[in-house]
Amino acid sequence: MVKETKFYDILGVKPGASPDELKKAYRKLALKYHPDKNPNEGEKFKQISQAYEVLSDPEKKRIYDQGGEQALKEGGGGGGGFSSPMDLFDMFFNGGGGFGGGRGRGRREKRGKDVVHQLSVTLEELYKGAVRKLALQKNVICDKCEGRGGKKGAVESCPTCGGSGLQVQVQQLGPGMIQQIQSMCSDCQGHGERINPKDRCKNCNGKKVVRDRKILEVHVDKGMTDGQRIIFNGEGDQEPEHEAGDIIIVLDEKAHPLYKRSGSDLIIRLDLHLAEALCGYQRLINTLDGRDLVITCIPGEVTKHGDVKCILNEGMPTYKDPFQKGRMIVQFLVEFPTSIDPAKIPALEQCLPPRPEIMIPDQAEECFLENFDTEQEARRRHDNMHAYEEDNEGPGVGQRVQCATH
Ligand SMILES: [Zn+2]
Ligand SMILES: [Zn+2]
Repeated sequence: MVKETKFYDILGVKPGASPDELKKAYRKLALKYHPDKNPNEGEKFKQISQAYEVLSDPEKKRIYDQGGEQALKEGGGGGGGFSSPMDLFDMFFNGGGGFGGGRGRGRREKRGKDVVHQLSVTLEELYKGAVRKLALQKNVICDKCEGRGGKKGAVESCPTCGGSGLQVQVQQLGPGMIQQIQSMCSDCQGHGERINPKDRCKNCNGKKVVRDRKILEVHVDKGMTDGQRIIFNGEGDQEPEHEAGDIIIVLDEKAHPLYKRSGSDLIIRLDLHLAEALCGYQRLINTLDGRDLVITCIPGEVTKHGDVKCILNEGMPTYKDPFQKGRMIVQFLVEFPTSIDPAKIPALEQCLPPRPEIMIPDQAEECFLENFDTEQEARRRHDNMHAYEEDNEGPGVGQRVQCATH
């Protein structure tokens, strides 16, 4: 039981969420609230980043689960500080060991920004492979001025700062005391040079880059997985004197109505009628590439509720080795009738193994069976535990509660 759920709530997951579920939740939200896409949601982006930073670190997660945010602030797990949300984002989406190869942080200084995009794909597309077209906006170097922002030779030293890129303000603090404050020159943004307004490139308005629409062909290969990244090197934003950034496509697997993927296996649930469970059945299973598989249980064999079987080589294809497939795991659930016509019971009983004979002693007491809702019971137990935790202010309280339940 965790002390508080705030970080889980921010990511929209339950406290029992697996590392994969946490990753997926962070991925979705971080892309949605990234300042590039949602410039007004900076605070939200920060919260998402902090929540993930804590919950993805086993030690910090343990401290948070036990003592909440306060425990983290009190110095557990390497202090209560957080990384910058942008650093975490870059590490998550372009960290080492990616499919495009990790890039050192040093190299990034001279590169344009990476453009990260999520692409929603169906399980069918991941099974069969697909080519998806994606329209993106990105900065490209203006071809009219070749990234100079104006005519050749139009660049001049900034008249405001004299080319230093800095503005110096002098403040008189008192008699004989002066303070100098240096700040970035606002006219040239610290570059020290500017383009004479009359020579400014009309195409890019002196910005050196223009927005361009780009259609990307994304090849979704057989067997790719949720969260896998497809990297287009050098297709990201361009900037003069910078290496272009990358376009990073992150796959997001949509939930499938029939199949659940578990690694290279596919899990499917099959509801059987009682007659099928007892007398045999034939069923069709439609595969993700549209084939019909027939499965047969010959009369004489019984399928029990909860039985699990599998079909070899009908699971997901392996990435880069698509003829190698996982298993299709079939879970059987038997639907029992709610009642049976008492007149038919003798005939039915003849077909079934005999019931055990029970001797009832004279003193035996007759009881009535009430219905018992297991789900409701689990909820009640859960609520009680929470009430107990909130009351637990000091020593002795726990004992008192325990006594009361006996
Ligand atoms: Zn200037
Ligand atoms: Zn231009």
